[in-house]
Amino acid sequence: MIAKNPASLTPPPHLLDYDRECAEFSWEKARALLDGLPQGRGLNIAHEAVDRHAAGPKADRVALRWIGKAGARRNLTYRELHEATNRFANALKAMDVERGERVFVLMGRLPELYVAVLGALKAGCVASPLFSAFGPEPIALRLEIGDGRVLVTTPGLFNRKVAAIRDQLPGLRHVILVGEEQAKGDGLHDWAEVVETADNDFVIAPTDPEDMALLHFTSGTTGRPKGAIHVHEAIVAHHVTGRYALDLHDDDVFWCTADPGWVTGTSYGILAPLTNGVTSIVLEAEFDAAMWLDILEQERVSIWYTAPTAIRMMMRQGTELARGRDLSALRFMASVGEPLNPEAVIWGQQAFGIPFHDNWWQTETGGIMISNFAALDIKPGSMGRPMPGIEAAIVRRLEDGDVSMIEEAMVDGELALRKGWPSMMRGYLHEEERYRKCFAGDWYLTGDLVRRDSDDYFWFVGRADDVIKSAGHLIGPFEVESALMEHPAVAEAAVIGKPDPTIGEMVKAFVSLRPGHLPDEAMRRELLGHARKCLGAAVAPKEIDFRENLPKTRSGKIMRRLLRARELGLPEGDLSTLESDER
Ligand code: ATP
Ligand code: MG
Repeated sequence: MIAKNPASLTPPPHLLDYDRECAEFSWEKARALLDGLPQGRGLNIAHEAVDRHAAGPKADRVALRWIGKAGARRNLTYRELHEATNRFANALKAMDVERGERVFVLMGRLPELYVAVLGALKAGCVASPLFSAFGPEPIALRLEIGDGRVLVTTPGLFNRKVAAIRDQLPGLRHVILVGEEQAKGDGLHDWAEVVETADNDFVIAPTDPEDMALLHFTSGTTGRPKGAIHVHEAIVAHHVTGRYALDLHDDDVFWCTADPGWVTGTSYGILAPLTNGVTSIVLEAEFDAAMWLDILEQERVSIWYTAPTAIRMMMRQGTELARGRDLSALRFMASVGEPLNPEAVIWGQQAFGIPFHDNWWQTETGGIMISNFAALDIKPGSMGRPMPGIEAAIVRRLEDGDVSMIEEAMVDGELALRKGWPSMMRGYLHEEERYRKCFAGDWYLTGDLVRRDSDDYFWFVGRADDVIKSAGHLIGPFEVESALMEHPAVAEAAVIGKPDPTIGEMVKAFVSLRPGHLPDEAMRRELLGHARKCLGAAVAPKEIDFRENLPKTRSGKIMRRLLRARELGLPEGDLSTLESDER
């Protein structure tokens, strides 16, 4: 178990007692923490995130602290965000965009992205942020699946990526362009003209808690991305998970490094910090280890929510990276998206001097489900324990579509969650059958394999699709990858099963090395030996290949299915979310 640094040995009074909080928690009580729309007109995410604070003592607090690429900066207070989102909602109304219609946003992390998402929600529309690095085909596919009515983008992105696919999208009526350059054409509008000149007052459309609010596409790690539907009630979960799992409190400066094109960048990059009334850092630039540390230091970030891949990239450069910096404001750090190797937890602790909290969730769950809470002791390599209000079980799928419960500790099975939490997806758009298959009775089946220890901590084993069956053993890639990462030469590792006539599948690893290490035969032998020593011969990889970089999704997840397809000469499948691995 990891020792906390001296400053955090005495937990501050707001840290929570896990068992007590779980016992006393109910979603009804959580709902009561929010306002609802005035005059009983329902619940609206943007009201809870923005207007509620704009009408109270937080009106002049900075909601978004934007840091642009070329050193530009812009602060938006809750009051300013309230007015800007009102203007966008008015602009949509003036264009006859109706409630329930889909408003897509395709741009880098500019303030207008945040205004557009929240303004669309005020108008009762469905918001869908897309990652700006997508190429024309993935954009067209998502706009088509989502039946996009409005697209907010920049002239540059429009010319490079959208102009050519416009004909395929007859339903796309309005394109609103944010930026200096002009682009003229049918249905093209200039943001400055239509939004900045619109009225500052807007009465939020009445929205039911069950009205569709957000459409989020999954990362596409295992195949074609699915469009998960989320409703306004999800904000209840964003609000409480922000408090419990990320420890958001009044004076915090919070930085979620994810792009809103992925669910993390919306649920925790936009909604949870706003509804909790804190200041969020919005950084336009992409990852760069030294620059990120500058941000942590100079912006006095107190809570940092990031991804394992970023940490592993920082680890390549060693703990010296953070040495000599004043990171005294930083008091809480967490990650999501992929398993956080124990090695990375320990590295984070050493480099930043505070515990490192992994948590688990999915696009489909809309919010954090399992987490290392502020008040829990961290077990490096564990995802933590279920959030208050979340009932998690480990199940085995049966032939008839039902499931049986696994009660014993340390037995692998599929993670299942009892349905009914507010941010649970309400469907995959246009894919009812696929949605239906995610459930067995009251249980939502996650597709991830986990085990639980005797302290009720959950441990990630692997995605059901990635699990390797070798000589009668089920081998989770995460365990093997984590063991490889314990070797000082290894920066990242990905493990797949490769068909083998005698043992079914054999374990094969792909490894990228830290600077200063050579990918030669001696290194290969050394790593094979290291893995055998840690894992035993049955589980250790039989083959290791070196790679400069591993293929990842744009949200930073290693695409094991692609490594496997390439290894076996199979079709590569949907690569719309692949970030090139030939960097
Ligand atoms: P697709 O469903 O399209 O294949 P995806 O599952 O990667 O893509 P997301 O919803 O972005 O899309 O990711 C959720 C998945 O990420 C989880 O199901 C899990 O496999 C993995 N994951 C997220 N957080 C963690 C974590 N803390 N530990 C281990 N795995 C995690
Ligand atoms: Mg998934």
